[in-house]
Amino acid sequence: MERMEATDVRVGVLGCGNVGAALATLVHEQSQAVADRTGLALEVAAIAVRDTSVDRGVPCPSDVFTTDAAAVVTDPGIDVIIEVMGGIEPARQLILDALASGKPVVTANKELLAAHGEELYLAAAEAGVDLLFEAAVAGAIPIMRPLRESLAGEPLTRIMGIVNGTTNFILSRMSDHGTSYADALSEAQDLGYAESDPTADVDGFDAGAKAAVIASLAFGARVVPADVYHEGISGVTVDDIEAARTMGHCIKLLAVAERGTSADGGVEIGVRVHPTLVPFDHPLAAVNDSFNAVFVEGGAVGELMFYGRGAGGRPTASAVFGDLIDAAGNLRRGHGAPIGALSDVRMAPIGDIESAYYLSVEVDDRPGVLSDVAAVFGGHDVSIRSMEQVGLGAEAQLRFITHLARESDLQATLRGLGELAAVRSIGSVLRVIGD
Ligand code: NAP
Repeated sequence: MERMEATDVRVGVLGCGNVGAALATLVHEQSQAVADRTGLALEVAAIAVRDTSVDRGVPCPSDVFTTDAAAVVTDPGIDVIIEVMGGIEPARQLILDALASGKPVVTANKELLAAHGEELYLAAAEAGVDLLFEAAVAGAIPIMRPLRESLAGEPLTRIMGIVNGTTNFILSRMSDHGTSYADALSEAQDLGYAESDPTADVDGFDAGAKAAVIASLAFGARVVPADVYHEGISGVTVDDIEAARTMGHCIKLLAVAERGTSADGGVEIGVRVHPTLVPFDHPLAAVNDSFNAVFVEGGAVGELMFYGRGAGGRPTASAVFGDLIDAAGNLRRGHGAPIGALSDVRMAPIGDIESAYYLSVEVDDRPGVLSDVAAVFGGHDVSIRSMEQVGLGAEAQLRFITHLARESDLQATLRGLGELAAVRSIGSVLRVIGD
């Protein structure tokens, strides 16, 4: 077989932390294999950091390091830019400058894409070069490329993801070992899975940013983090997990993006993040510890699931590396792969969404109470799918899973239950994958 003539591709990397250092090492280790398979001779020619005196442990000469990220971006000797510094500025401006100077960009920065994706996608389309971001959602898992390419013609209906490894680890510890939320969180912090300020993870902001990127790509729609309704996991207790287990479910923090029809017949999109009861026989129930998965449903394709490591320097660098090879190949062929125009769509208000729900209610344990409670559900159009009763002496805990109901009807049911004399308190209310 005739050997391809290798094309030299000089890569500028912005950032050399967990992901940047792993990427520089991977490029070094794999460069011969990549050259043999693709004809691309990749070389890390510049790495921008804040402090050049730190030993990064990467197989690159010290003279590739610089603190001048802007000069890397405009250097005519650099062909492709990798942005793995994180944050909004200067990453946003550096990416815009790189694209304007005709350089493809690969980024792992979900925060930036969620907040400024459209501006960046447009800049890439105008420049006719790639902006690729496989690593930004679910780390190593190839999900962006399938959504952009393989599934571009698919009438997608719903995407559900476990896209935050920290919260999945915490919920797994609570479920498998009965560890309290606070102890599981501190274990996650000790293991380096959770930041010292865990708010972005445990309150659902990180998953919300990823959900916005997923929804934009899946539905070709303009979705930003402010459009995403989110609830975190700090209110989930070991008792909730046990109660869910007795009813055949586990609890996962899910990012959900779905396309539906509004009351006037138009398209509407709902994007939300919340703890969710997942039936044990659903594939997402088997995704434990810090693993991620994305479950995709479409009218033609049926159901697909993508599973793997959602974070970590080397797994994330693997996804960045795949994008780098793609971008370099497209550059050689002289074209980019724009993601297409994003359209304005109606975002479904949370009150309009339909879901099944789990709820627990503590009541006086006496005759007639159950029928009073059931009447409140029925009066607000919420139908009960299953129920169990746990005796607690003079009181009882009633646990319900409903059929699909509108969020606003469920809220009205909760208010109605709160007005019953026999209801002592209403416990957790969680959404359920079902029907
Ligand atoms: P990190 O360990 O904090 O590394 C950031 C790097 O960027 C550091 O080398 C830092 O330089 C450099 N940097 C920051 N601001 C800079 C500036 N203004 N000029 C020059 N260099 C600058 O971050 P990371 O964990 O590798 O994450 C990088 C990106 O990947 C983020 O967008 C993150 O969200 C995304 N991501 C990470 C993971 C993961 O598992 N870590 C997974 C998926 C996506 P100094 O070292 O000199 O301070």
